[in-house]
Amino acid sequence: MTTVFLFDPTEIVKTDKSADSKYFFGRRSLDNGFKCRLCLQIYGPNTSLTTRCLHLQNAPGHPEEYFAAVEQHGFANKLPAELVRQVAEDRALSLNRISFSMNTFIEQSVKVFVVNDLLIHLIDSGEFRDLLLLLRDSLAEKDIPHRTKLTKLVVEAWVKYYAELKVTLNVAIGKISFTADIWSSKGLHPYLAITAHWLGPRGDDLQVLLCQTLLAFRRICGAHSGQRIARIVFNILEDAGIVWNVGHFTLDNVSNNGTFMLHFTSLLRDIGIRDFDEKQNYIRCFANVIRVMEKDDADAEHSDSDTDPATESTDDEEPVPVGMRATRYTWKAGPIHRARKTVAFIRKSGQRRDELQSIITHGNTHSLWKEVTMGKEGTLIESPV
Ligand SMILES: [Zn+2]
Repeated sequence: MTTVFLFDPTEIVKTDKSADSKYFFGRRSLDNGFKCRLCLQIYGPNTSLTTRCLHLQNAPGHPEEYFAAVEQHGFANKLPAELVRQVAEDRALSLNRISFSMNTFIEQSVKVFVVNDLLIHLIDSGEFRDLLLLLRDSLAEKDIPHRTKLTKLVVEAWVKYYAELKVTLNVAIGKISFTADIWSSKGLHPYLAITAHWLGPRGDDLQVLLCQTLLAFRRICGAHSGQRIARIVFNILEDAGIVWNVGHFTLDNVSNNGTFMLHFTSLLRDIGIRDFDEKQNYIRCFANVIRVMEKDDADAEHSDSDTDPATESTDDEEPVPVGMRATRYTWKAGPIHRARKTVAFIRKSGQRRDELQSIITHGNTHSLWKEVTMGKEGTLIESPV
């Protein structure tokens, strides 16, 4: 049965003390009770005004509708001031929500995957798609992109962002400086990353803004000698339109980076840029030096715990920084690594282990191991057998 609201808002006298209640509670007849305009709940004919008022205050979504009606029709507000404030806050928050459209849905999907570095295959997970469908009735399965489409959208978003970035870079105040490094993936494929940092104008005022961005993240195929990397970096900066405005490079302290700077300077000279110097514009990354020392320290601490020969190659399974150079020499070299290799070599053979045991026993018998100093405390340690 359709509800007949006896009180049409246009007919309600706004000075009527119960105008709000009359607006929200229609009556099908004078003796069969009240029916809420919003949720169609029915109250008996003798229900008090206070009960109806509490319904408007507590039922989901009702306070928002109530205040909207108060504003629109000029009724006297009867709900608590605290509720007024809460609803106003919620309303302000909801103004910041992105309203749904297919375009905003697609844009937001790209953003979620890029910003959180999610695997693109997640979009094809049945559970993930079900979750999206659950959140909006009008969304159909065909509206959600699959991984090929999403990959295309990510690339398109990058192209758009890169065009905007070029404009920003070209209004830099002063020179643009860079950091760069090459890292290996789990499969030992080298990737070059370049970040740029510069000062840019802040709106219309005279203040400046410190800006930074990841300028490039590229798979390096083939040799990555300093000379070749210099050409790759030069091309990246040329493409961004900033090769004429290069400040400093912050790089690892490996010799290959010296070669890179030398060749990069030469490429700049070739196009007539003479105020760039391979030594003056090269900042050696101090943090990297500290990190290498820290890593050596950690290796020394953990070398005794590697008791299973099968764990010998575990350090190959994680991404390894290689610096701007062709091999992983820095990481692999050094006495700690050689010691670990030796230990693994001996553990692999029962014969070698027996021989080592007899050397240790011999050394203990003849007090050969007593003068070994270990640790910060300078403790004298005899070989553990
Ligand atoms: Zn209701």
